[in-house]
This record gives sequence, structure tokens and C-alpha cells, in this order.
Amino acid sequence: MKPITEHATGPLLRVENLRVAYETGRGLPGLLPGRRRRFDAVRDVSFDIAPGETFGLVGESGSGKTTTGRAVLRLVRPAAGRVVFDGQDVTAFGRRTPRWYRQAVQVVFQDPLASLNPRHLVSQALEQAISRRAEPVPRSRRRAEVLDLLDQVGLAAHHADRYPYELSGGQRQRVVIARALAVGPRLVICDEAVSALDVSTQGQIINLLAGLQRELGLALLFISHDLAVVRHISHRVGVMYLGRLVETGDANRVYREPAHPYTRVLLESAPPPDPATQRARRSRTPSGEPASPLSPPSGCAFHPRCPSAFEPCAGTGPPPRAMPDGVVRCHLDPVKPVN
Ligand code: SF4
Repeated sequence: MKPITEHATGPLLRVENLRVAYETGRGLPGLLPGRRRRFDAVRDVSFDIAPGETFGLVGESGSGKTTTGRAVLRLVRPAAGRVVFDGQDVTAFGRRTPRWYRQAVQVVFQDPLASLNPRHLVSQALEQAISRRAEPVPRSRRRAEVLDLLDQVGLAAHHADRYPYELSGGQRQRVVIARALAVGPRLVICDEAVSALDVSTQGQIINLLAGLQRELGLALLFISHDLAVVRHISHRVGVMYLGRLVETGDANRVYREPAHPYTRVLLESAPPPDPATQRARRSRTPSGEPASPLSPPSGCAFHPRCPSAFEPCAGTGPPPRAMPDGVVRCHLDPVKPVN
């Protein structure tokens, strides 16, 4: 993969100080009053993505990575901050999302079976998407366009006449990717897009996405709980914990020299082949689950689990500090290795 180190043409997507709040405990209207509580699912999240770049967003369940993707898609309304796409403030759009934006930003979710209409043939699903293009495609051309799309994602012509249930999980995900490509997107958000697939199929889909990116110049926001998966496709990586980005940087550097203790924990949670290394890692890896976003710990939200926590961590949240290739939120000096 060709590294992208600078934004020669400016970012395609810029997320600035994004905050998304959810409300919980509504109760049952007219029956049981609930105790409403607002909490921040995403706080002060900033990153950008250049054309043709992959930004990997990783973190445990509840870290806010999917909510961040949903805010970019305008499926949730931010409480603060901005999402800017190709110079246009997406957060300033009215209630309706403009058609050009719906086409420019596509999404591939985890479960392709839920994304596809079970009563539609693959050809129908793709023809529907083709019919939404800004430039109309005559009906007589649509079959040929469907076959082109299938070829692009490594499927054969006969797959056009299959129903989703007749395909394997990997083939279904290829159809969903083809449907996303049908409208000519510039950014594709892959939200746990390979998490439900077996390891070899994961590799095939990741190779497909990387190839399409090279061919079409697509930008990708690749969201996953699995750091190993993100590593294979990302130019840059952002690590989220309890709604905040705690580290961003060049993917190679983050994997080689993680600056944040939480990034180190995520890397070490992947089982290494050597039992001695496994034992050493277990002794350093903290146990316990992340705190609830409803009541995040004081100071640095990671401090109850952090093996490196020291005196100021429980009292004061660390501000973002610049690294040569990104930012880190930790009171430790980011240039020192984290033990
Ligand atoms: Fe650990 Fe303190 Fe850094 Fe938080 S600020 S990650 S508790 S060392």
C-alpha cells in the first residue's frame, strides 16, 4: 500500500471537535416515567482523511467509533463540533441530507444479509443503486453496468441472478461493496465490515477494498474493534476510548511504538504465538472492562485500568498533545516508551 503522508490537496473529510450526546432512560411513554440521563458517546473527536487515504478507527465496544461514523453519515446529530466534507459543512445541512452527499459517502455495515433485501436478486439491488446516479443510466445499459460492478468486486456474471441467501457471507459483502460503488462514492465508511467473516475471507475483502481504493482513489474510514484487521489496510489510525480519541498517528508508528497505554493494551490483547511472550504480556495487561460512558471515571477515563497510572491521572484529564504524526492524550511524555 502506498503511504499517504501529507494532504497535498487538503482533506476530503474533516471532523472537528465532534461531540455526540445520547439520552437514556426514557421509560415507557404514558406508562412508566423513566429517569432521563444524557451522556456523551463521543467527545472532542477530531481527525481528517485525505482523498485516497484509509483512516482506521479502533477501540472496544462502546468507545464511540460507530457513533462517529454515524455522525459523518448524518444518522445522528452532533451536539457540538463540525463535519466538513470537501470544504462543505455537513453539520450545517438542513433536515434533509443532499443527494450529492448521500452518494459521495457510502457505508458498508457488518451484516450484509441485513443490508440487502432478501426478496431482491443481486441484479435488482445493483440496478436500484445505479438508477440513483446523478446522471441517469438508460435501462438498456443497466444490465451491463451490473455485470461491470460484479466484475469489479470479483464476482461472476451468474451471481447477478442469485438471491442473497444463495451467497456466502463473503460474496454478500462483495455485493454490498458493489452497491456502494454503483453511485460513485468518494468516501466509504466500513463499519466492522469484515468482523463477521472468517479470517481468510476477511483477508480477501480487505485486499479487495485496498485494490478498489488504488483503482478508484477512494477514501476509507475503516471502523473495527480489531487492531490487527485495521493494521492491514490503514495509512493512519485513531484509537478511541470511552468516546475520546486517545491516540492518532501513522499506522506503522502506532503499531511499532504505541504512545498511549491503551493502544499498548489493545495490541497486547492479540495473542502472540510464543507462550513466554504471552505470560509476560498477561502480567502487564490490566484486567477489567471499560467504565460505562454514563459515568466515566474522573481525570483520565482510562486510569482505573492503566498499568502506568500515576499521581495526576485520577484528578486531571490529559489534554491532547501533538506528536510528529498525530496526537496523544496522556500525562506521560509521549516520546518515552510506555511500560
Ligand atoms: Fe494512564 Fe495516566 Fe496516561 Fe491516563 S493519563 S493513560 S492513566 S498514564
